[in-house]
Amino acid sequence: MIFDTLGSLGFGELHIGHDVATGMRAIIALHSTKLGPAIGGLRVRRYESEAEAIDDVTRLAQGMTYKNALAGLRHGGGKSVMLAPDGLDKFSTDQRATLFEAFARFLHNLGGRYLAAKDSGTSAADIDVMRQLTPHVLGASLGKGGSGDPSPFTAQGVFRGIEAVAHELFGRHDLAGMHVAIQGVGHVGMHLARLLHKAGAKLTIADVDRGRLDQVASETGARVVPTDAILEVECDVLAPCAFGGAITEGLVPRLKCRVVAGAANNQLRTCAAGDLLAQRGIFYAPDYVINAGGVINVAQEYVGYDEAKSQPRVLAIYDTIKQIICRSRDEKRNPEHLADQLAEEIIAKG
Ligand code: NAD
Repeated sequence: MIFDTLGSLGFGELHIGHDVATGMRAIIALHSTKLGPAIGGLRVRRYESEAEAIDDVTRLAQGMTYKNALAGLRHGGGKSVMLAPDGLDKFSTDQRATLFEAFARFLHNLGGRYLAAKDSGTSAADIDVMRQLTPHVLGASLGKGGSGDPSPFTAQGVFRGIEAVAHELFGRHDLAGMHVAIQGVGHVGMHLARLLHKAGAKLTIADVDRGRLDQVASETGARVVPTDAILEVECDVLAPCAFGGAITEGLVPRLKCRVVAGAANNQLRTCAAGDLLAQRGIFYAPDYVINAGGVINVAQEYVGYDEAKSQPRVLAIYDTIKQIICRSRDEKRNPEHLADQLAEEIIAKG
């Protein structure tokens, strides 16, 4: 069963770590190191079953191989998950540190072939703790030689992708007056809204968090709509920046946008949703291409963090999205299939 999963995803290695003393249970999936040491986040969450955790970590690791390749990084793809112990949210700082120290020892044994970055359920403080035991972590705090919060860089990459859309698909010179609807103005969505506002775009936003919504609306003059209305707003670009799976097959016929381009991972609930978007002539900017700004920036820590050095690659997301727009139009192919092919070509070249 496990080998079937690994085989179908083109793996790779799966490492299972269990520290009896602390109860730390984690899985590291090393999908590919062909381009260099694998990079991918450490996700901490509860899973219904061990099978679900394996399914999650293996798929995410494969996705990181593609993402890192298309982002121009000399890194392969990997991912790790820690199965959250009962009551983790009530752990003291010391208890939490003990858990992450156990993971750090497990990670260190891989000898640097996998570099773990911050992901959902982990914080820069957790990375700081692990960094005392292993150099094979990325995303430490700014004050500790790390690259800090990746969200502004992710937002910048999404903004560059939207610029490519404006130039290539809409024939615009700039974003002035272009209407973008953002679902979720959290870490990435908020930065994206600021960048778009500065560029003269017209914004509509929604979020379940009233405080964030009010802050972004007052800063940018964005129109606020209810969360159940944002996806169907008539606009040029719909930017899902809240959670995965927002674009469902049922939703696609009701969309009133020309492009879907946002930060959320796995925006398409199913492959068929992507096919339906293409049939309706709505361009979909593949999520793992447009939201790579964060990983591009954090990867810079591997060689000594210098923001100036990661900038050109974040800005180059523009070129990759432009290439995908042009080729998907010329070859009449789905953007996400095309992105996969481009990534596979890069990996094959090594
Ligand atoms: P976040 O948690 O800071 O922001 C998400 C926002 O969505 C929150 O403000 C939340 O209140 C809002 N939200 C939740 N449910 C909603 C709903 N039904 N309608 C509207 N808004 C809703 O997360 P983030 O770091 O900004 O990441 C956003 C997405 O981008 C996630 O899918 C994440 O995996 C992906 N992503 C983030 C980064 C990064 O650098 N942070 C990098 C790559 C991908």
